[in-house]
Amino acid sequence: MTESVLKELTTMTMNCKPIETIDQRINDIRMRTAEIVNNDILPNESRLWAERREDESWSHRNEVLELRAQIKEKVKQAGLWAPHLPADYGGMGLDFLAHAYMNEVLAYAIGASSLFGVVAPNSGNQSVLVKYGTEEQKQKWLLPLIDGTLESGFSMTEPHNPGSDPRSLDTSAVIEGDEFVINGHKWFTSNGIDADFFIVMCRVVEAGATDLKTGPMVQIIVPTATRGVNIVRGIGVWGRKESDHCEIKYEDVRVPVANALGRVGDGHQAAQDRLGAGRIYHCMNSVGQMWRAFDLMVQRAASRDVHGGKLQDKQFIQGFIADSYIDIQSARLMTIHAAEKIDQGLQAARTDISAIKVYVPAAYSRVVDRAIQVWGAAGVSNDLPLAGMYMGARTLRIADGPDEVHKILIAKHVLGQYAKGEGWDFGN
Ligand SMILES: Cc1cc2nc3c(=O)[nH]c(=O)nc-3n(C[C@H](O)[C@H](O)[C@H](O)COP(=O)(O)OP(=O)(O)OC[C@H]3O[C@@H](n4cnc5c(N)ncnc54)[C@H](O)[C@@H]3O)c2cc1C
Repeated sequence: MTESVLKELTTMTMNCKPIETIDQRINDIRMRTAEIVNNDILPNESRLWAERREDESWSHRNEVLELRAQIKEKVKQAGLWAPHLPADYGGMGLDFLAHAYMNEVLAYAIGASSLFGVVAPNSGNQSVLVKYGTEEQKQKWLLPLIDGTLESGFSMTEPHNPGSDPRSLDTSAVIEGDEFVINGHKWFTSNGIDADFFIVMCRVVEAGATDLKTGPMVQIIVPTATRGVNIVRGIGVWGRKESDHCEIKYEDVRVPVANALGRVGDGHQAAQDRLGAGRIYHCMNSVGQMWRAFDLMVQRAASRDVHGGKLQDKQFIQGFIADSYIDIQSARLMTIHAAEKIDQGLQAARTDISAIKVYVPAAYSRVVDRAIQVWGAAGVSNDLPLAGMYMGARTLRIADGPDEVHKILIAKHVLGQYAKGEGWDFGN
């Protein structure tokens, strides 16, 4: 983002005040998060995330890295580091609801989550390692992942099979002595360029098996440097030539059987653990970003003169503001409701989780779309975070389970309830 267009907006901060109906501890976390977002991250946003230019000097690059390190240190001092991790692993040890409420604040500033120690896919891999890892795996992979000396990826989706139906995957792991021999073709393994290891979703099959679709699933830790891990490319997305979402061929890759995460057969459950409840955090992130887009839109509407009057006085634009307000409030309240329900167990919340997984990214797309429209050409420029948000919101309708799959689940749960002779209880 260049300084010029943002100048008038850099004084804008997130208006985050204590919420009367939630407990003091959560309010305290939100307020301390907002303080760092408002004082340290937003004023430096254009410097923190500027794309690295080829002619950039090392001293400038070091300045940026130094600034990020300073903010991370401040976050740690404030006890706000790694909200997704238990305290034993250097995290905040937050319960579900507190984490969700924190996310809407930290997601207001683009990229801020990395300054709070939460970076996908590392954060998801950390949580899976905490839950399924042996002591040895934790020492070797988890701790360096937490302190930032290692990077990782999660390799599940395959180009020739529908990712929306994980039962279709056919990357095979054959046990030979004390080794797995892995063969398969994956793509969209995010962070693939920098990763030091991948958690690869495989099926355990007999040597020479022709049916690769029925063996028990297992997640296996595969160091990137292992012979046979062949990164084909960083797939270009959204018009860019390359990204860090990688296509990877695993060709006779040998790793110790001790690299299995959990027991053979646990793989599908581990993937569900990773995605299931995590969807609430992603949706609260989207709420934070919608909040930001809304602020940008309303500020611009209040300051821009068009055809003899301010944009804010045109009814079209007032409609944008009202519709966006409704989108954000409904997305936010649905997500908080789902987060509250998780206390009764993942099972009780699964219809609500699917509902927000469909509703929130769509609401996010609509809100950002209107903000872009109000900003005109600047809206699609790199001077503002809106274009990036727009692509992110659209992508969210596919990643972590496409809309249609979640709608099918909602209908299944509802119909199941009626089949039992009961109606749906919207009050609980
Ligand atoms: C930016 C990005 C990052 C990603 N990162 C990772 C990663 O790190 N690791 C990883 O393993 N994967 C990753 N993915 C992959 C992602 O999880 C999959 O794209 C997703 O699960 C959908 O799978 P698919 O692309 O194979 O689509 P498909 O399964 O082929 O589905 C295509 C479309 O079919 C429709 N559809 C599917 N099922 C039904 C149905 N039952 N009824 C009606 N319509 C249906 C939906 O509209 C769906 O979008 C990433 C994807 C993106 C875009």
